[in-house]
Amino acid sequence: MAVDDLTPFMDKLGDIYREIDEQYTHIQGVYNGFNCDACDDNCCTTVFHHYTLIEEYYLFRGLSEINDQQLVEAVLQNAESYCMQVARHPHDSHTLRIMCPVNHQGRCIVYKHRPLICRIHGVAAVLHSPIKGRQQWDGCQLFVQRCGDNVKIKGQLLDRTPFYTRIATLEKQLRHELVFLHKTKKTIAEMVMDFANGYQGGQ
Ligand code: SF4
Repeated sequence: MAVDDLTPFMDKLGDIYREIDEQYTHIQGVYNGFNCDACDDNCCTTVFHHYTLIEEYYLFRGLSEINDQQLVEAVLQNAESYCMQVARHPHDSHTLRIMCPVNHQGRCIVYKHRPLICRIHGVAAVLHSPIKGRQQWDGCQLFVQRCGDNVKIKGQLLDRTPFYTRIATLEKQLRHELVFLHKTKKTIAEMVMDFANGYQGGQ
C-alpha cells in the first residue's frame, strides 16, 4: 500500500482530532476558559512516547508540509540531539525536560498534525479501559492550581474513552491493511528521524 492510499485513514483520524479539540475547548469553557497563559512550564519539553502507526503517518503529513529548508535542517539537528539525550537515559527518560524538535521559537510547526497527547494533555480527564478499569488524571500543574477546586464542584472531566477507542480501531484496521505486526513506541524526535530517512512504516 502506498502512503497516498492512506488518505481515508488520515481523514478519519483528522475527524477524531477535530472532535478532541472541540471537547477540549468545551472543558476549557467549563473551567472559566482555562488556558496556558502565564504558565512557567512547557508541555513541549516533556518526553512523551507515542504508540500508534497511524499518528506517526499523520505527523509525517505535517512534516512534509515544512518547505523551509533551513527550518527542516534545524528540526533534524534538534531531533538528533533529542534522540541522543533520550538514549543516555533508557530507564528514566520521563524525568528529562527536552524541547520537542518541532517546537520552533515557542511554536509547534506541525500544530495541525500534532499527536493525541499534545491535544489532550492539560485538563482533568478520565479513561474507562477494558483492561485497567477507570483511570483519572487531575490535569497539569497549572490546571490543578487554577481549577482543582472547581473540578470537585463541577465534576466535569474530558472523557478520553471514545477517542482512544476510535483511534485504536483505526490503528487496527491500518495495521491489517499494511500487514504491520511490530509494536510502535517512538518520541516525536524518532519520528522526525525516521521521516528524514524515508521510513515508510509497514512497507
Ligand atoms: S508536537 Fe507540537 S505540541 Fe506536541 S510536543 Fe511537539 S511542539 Fe509541542
